This record gives sequence, C-alpha cells and structure tokens, in this order.
Amino acid sequence: MKKISIAIDGPAAAGKSTIAKSIAKILGYTYIDTGAMYRAFTYYVLKNGIDPKDEQASISVINKVNIVLDPSGKVFCNDEDVTLVIRSNEVSKNVSFIASYKEIRLALVKLQRQMAKSGSVVMDGRDIGTYVLPNADVKIFQVASVKARAERRYKENLEKGIPCSIEQLEEDIQMRDYLDSHRDFAPLKQADDAILLDTSDLSIEEVVKKVLEIINEKVGV
Ligand code: C5P
Repeated sequence: MKKISIAIDGPAAAGKSTIAKSIAKILGYTYIDTGAMYRAFTYYVLKNGIDPKDEQASISVINKVNIVLDPSGKVFCNDEDVTLVIRSNEVSKNVSFIASYKEIRLALVKLQRQMAKSGSVVMDGRDIGTYVLPNADVKIFQVASVKARAERRYKENLEKGIPCSIEQLEEDIQMRDYLDSHRDFAPLKQADDAILLDTSDLSIEEVVKKVLEIINEKVGV
C-alpha cells in the first residue's frame, strides 16, 4: 500500500492539531505533533535554568534531550511525561525563541522525517509543507482570525485546567506568529502548492469534512 503523507501547517492555535488528530484517526494514519516536540525541548531548557533567549546555551543541551511522541498521544521528555506541562503559559511564551535556532530545528526535523518514514502520517506544524516533507501528498495551510483562535484556545485551556485570559492568549498568539514567520530558517509560510483553508467561521466537523474532501480529491482515500 502506498504511504501517504499529509502536511497541515498554519499559525498558532488555528486548530491544526484537533483537525490533524481527527483526520489521522479516521484514516488510520499516525499523527505527528511537531509543535509538541519544540515545546518539550523548551520545557527541558526552562527546567534546567537556561534562558531560552540564549541560543548557545539552548543549543548546548541538544544531545541531552530525548523526545518521544507516544502512540496514545502522550509526550515524553527523557522519560518524563510532559504532555500537560508543555501547554503551560511559560512554555508557550518561550517556545518560538527555541524554534528559531537552526541547530535545534535540524535535530527535531531529523526525528520528524524518521517518524514519517514508518507509514502514512498526518503531520502538523509550521514548516511541514515547505521544509520537513516538501513532497507531501497533500498540503493544507489552515488559518483563522486571531479572535477566533484566542477564543478556541481559551476554551481548550479551561477544559485542561490551564489558567489564562483571552487578552493574554491574543498577545501570545500574535507574538508567536510574528516570531515564527520572521525567523531566518524554515519560517512559518504557506507552501506554493498548499491549499489555504480559513476556518474562522467553521465548526470542527465542517473543517474535518473539507479536509477529507481535499485529501480524497488529491489521493483518493
Ligand atoms: O503547534 P504549536 O502551537 O504547539 O507549536 C508551538 C511552537 O513550536 C510554534 O509557535 C513554533 O514556534 C514552533 N513550531 C515550529 N515548527 C513546527 C512546529 C512548531 O517552529 N513545525
């Protein structure tokens, strides 16, 4: 059977992971949350008292960090279950600094490409269609207004018991989008052959339906 790869990129909190997870479940593919990997690295840096704005110090621990995405959806960093803590405000505020360092990206991209070799995947992130999997069978660039994104993330955080305010989330989203799209190496950018999908006024079910239609049109699954 042919291995299919689906790349879903887009700005922060655009609902990529919800959609990617759901599509992977429906199609029986592996879901790879690349944002969780940058978050786990950031968690390690913070935990070890390193300033994430210090590039050299952050890079110096590359070989000490072992990140594993469990098939059940859990994220492990050196055997510690970091699934919840990587969603904290502290990690969210700092992750884009870590993600701007080329050496760290190269190490995580290597891991992401290895994971994608194992079978059909749905991978979400910022640079999947442009850099990690440039030959992906289907590329989607998922966007939504800042307001819609902050409101969705607010609801998600409430459900997970993570304290936050809508204003703080809007600020965080805008700052991350700016840093992610302005970094030198593999920035957040729509691939030329990606399909733009604005989800501001769509429900999760409507987005899943549209994405499945796009996949069906492209690869007939
Ligand atoms: O997807 P999520 O919002 O969890 O990603 C957290 C951060 O990780 C992003 O804001 C970005 O800085 C970084 N990231 C990245 N490239 C990816 C995935 C995430 O730079 N492929």
